[in-house]
Amino acid sequence: MHGARLGRVRAAMDEQGVDALLLSVGADLPWLCGYEAMPLERLTMLVVPRDGEASLVVPRLEAPRVVERAGVFTLVPWDETDDPVELVAALVGPVGVAAIGDRTWARFLVELLARLDRTSFRRASEVVGPLRAVKDEAEVAALRRAGAAADRVATQLRSGDIPLVGRTEAAISADLGRRLVDEGHHRVNFAIVAAGANAASPHHEPGERVVRAGEVVLCDFGGTLPPDDTGAGYCSDITRCVYTGEPPAAFRDLYAVLEDAQAQAVAAATVGTPCEDVDAVARRIITEGGYGDHFIHRTGHGIGIEEHEDPYVVAGNCTALVAGHAFSVEPGIYVPGEWGARLEDIVVAADAGPDPLNRVDHGLAVVEA
Ligand code: ZN
Ligand code: ZN
Ligand code: ZN
Repeated sequence: MHGARLGRVRAAMDEQGVDALLLSVGADLPWLCGYEAMPLERLTMLVVPRDGEASLVVPRLEAPRVVERAGVFTLVPWDETDDPVELVAALVGPVGVAAIGDRTWARFLVELLARLDRTSFRRASEVVGPLRAVKDEAEVAALRRAGAAADRVATQLRSGDIPLVGRTEAAISADLGRRLVDEGHHRVNFAIVAAGANAASPHHEPGERVVRAGEVVLCDFGGTLPPDDTGAGYCSDITRCVYTGEPPAAFRDLYAVLEDAQAQAVAAATVGTPCEDVDAVARRIITEGGYGDHFIHRTGHGIGIEEHEDPYVVAGNCTALVAGHAFSVEPGIYVPGEWGARLEDIVVAADAGPDPLNRVDHGLAVVEA
């Protein structure tokens, strides 16, 4: 499988005139070769020439963690007194164009620029991003498992199993995180808990604010599954809102518009539809509902080994959806000083139609205050 991915990467390099691909920390590396570099000050770098063998330059003390994949790369360990940048520069050689991973530490790029002064650098995401965005069957299955695990936590939230009133946002956030792990996640990536007016801030940081009766509690959480036999773990991401007690009519109205916008945007996410059109569907419904000024966030983001990756569901992205694209559909309405709501599922574009990976009820959950 990694050999097949390498073949597709090489074809893309050929097409884009890239002579060498350099991958370090970040998700491109585990996707391509099943090994995730530790975010260390010591350099790990996969060097993929357009032709010829790929090499994984790795600190010798990390080498025991590398699962060698036959036919994918040769291991090039370096010792504590070696200069790994020199090693990489020698492997790259005097080429015209190199593409380097977007998340590579800047210090390594700066040092490579000094040693490869004839080489022009561009972003590896231009080569690898469009390939990684289209998930194969095993990747969709992994995302589905992640989605089901997040769904189980969302079900606990909606049914009132997770106490809200009288607890701080931070305590509820930690509780959600523990439950994500209990349900099979390896790592918690985020657990936003935003009560009342805090729900008007899309990326609110859960704090010491205590949840009261009679307010909205927006919960947006996700994590990463343990690495599977491909060497990578896949992400979940879901948002549901709960009201502590009977919601006022004005909030019911806002939520009905949001629920309609989210459902119709999911339905619009068919193969061949440009990403920006999916965003436009949600935006039209929210605008017609009278909340257009309060939809300040894009509609969604791709998801895979990273919680945010290509393709982005946003105005200006005319990439047409293809079968295997996996992304969130998460419109929100954010009214400063008052309240907010967001509704989020992960969806996979498929030939048979949009395939939502989150199946938890979309209605506004009302829990006993
Ligand atoms: Zn966001
Ligand atoms: Zn989310
Ligand atoms: Zn999201």
